[in-house]
Amino acid sequence: MTLAVSSCLLGEKIRFDGGHKRDRFITDELCGFAEFVPFCPEHLAFGTPRPSVRLVSVEGAVRVHSNKSGEDLSDALLQSCHDELTNLEAKSLCGIIFKSKSPSCGMKSAKLYLENGYCEGKEDGVFMHLCRERFPLLPMEEEGRLEDAWLRENFVMQIFAYDAYETFKASNPSLGDLVRFHTINKFLLQSKDEALYRELGNIVANRENHTLQMLLGIYELGFKTAIARKSSIKKTRNVLDHLAGFFKNELTKSEKEALHTQIGDYASKIIPLIVPVSTIYLYAKKYNTEYLLDQTFLTPYPKTLSLRSHISGGK
Ligand code: SF4
Repeated sequence: MTLAVSSCLLGEKIRFDGGHKRDRFITDELCGFAEFVPFCPEHLAFGTPRPSVRLVSVEGAVRVHSNKSGEDLSDALLQSCHDELTNLEAKSLCGIIFKSKSPSCGMKSAKLYLENGYCEGKEDGVFMHLCRERFPLLPMEEEGRLEDAWLRENFVMQIFAYDAYETFKASNPSLGDLVRFHTINKFLLQSKDEALYRELGNIVANRENHTLQMLLGIYELGFKTAIARKSSIKKTRNVLDHLAGFFKNELTKSEKEALHTQIGDYASKIIPLIVPVSTIYLYAKKYNTEYLLDQTFLTPYPKTLSLRSHISGGK
């Protein structure tokens, strides 16, 4: 898959002072599964090193001023932002990772100042804001938020699900293929948003007799909206209980009790999610439960990322 990433997070010495902000999760872990498209609108506009800039609220509009001279640099930066945007539009992106707090790249984390120098609050950086408008369904996060295990797990699950949908869409799918795609994603969708999951089931049933093209368009919107929702321990527990129900005829009373204890311990934040998921996977293998083995919820991304191994990964 292809991800766009703020250049400084990839270790490029491109910040205003010639430094970088290499992020090890991106460069050492995600790199095994994604190609990166770097961007840096400030470098494109002003080169490196350059004066640092800030967002300033001027008569209700957000402008970009030099910290040193106070000069209004908005037009030059906007031009380079549009150039970077054009570059990203030509890529088949599955997500964007921005540098936090930057007046260009921050996601609601860039400080916005009044003309008198007081900080008025936090805003999207200029480039981030344009990306949000241009790619409303594309997964986006900033590296500061990705330090949170729960947000990181949600984002990684989202980009892999997004990539899976793009691959599916490119395969010239039939209605039967759509039914199968929805079926294997059933529990992943349920862990994100129960109502949307049910709505997507109705869409696939196609009682309105939409054309396939129209159906795919409606499904894509619902699917990408659902995977952008954050999971919760409560929603995940509900899914785990459903999955455990598949073995009600196979497991002994004590095996069922042990599995439900694991699920309860996960919900109480005593053990991480990987424990009950691994047990369910083991039983699915043992009893050859193909329906479960196909579920993307059980293996939503490469296991080496080990994002379900932390108790803090659930909220
Ligand atoms: S935060 Fe954005 S604009 Fe600033 S150096 Fe990094 S990529 Fe460039």
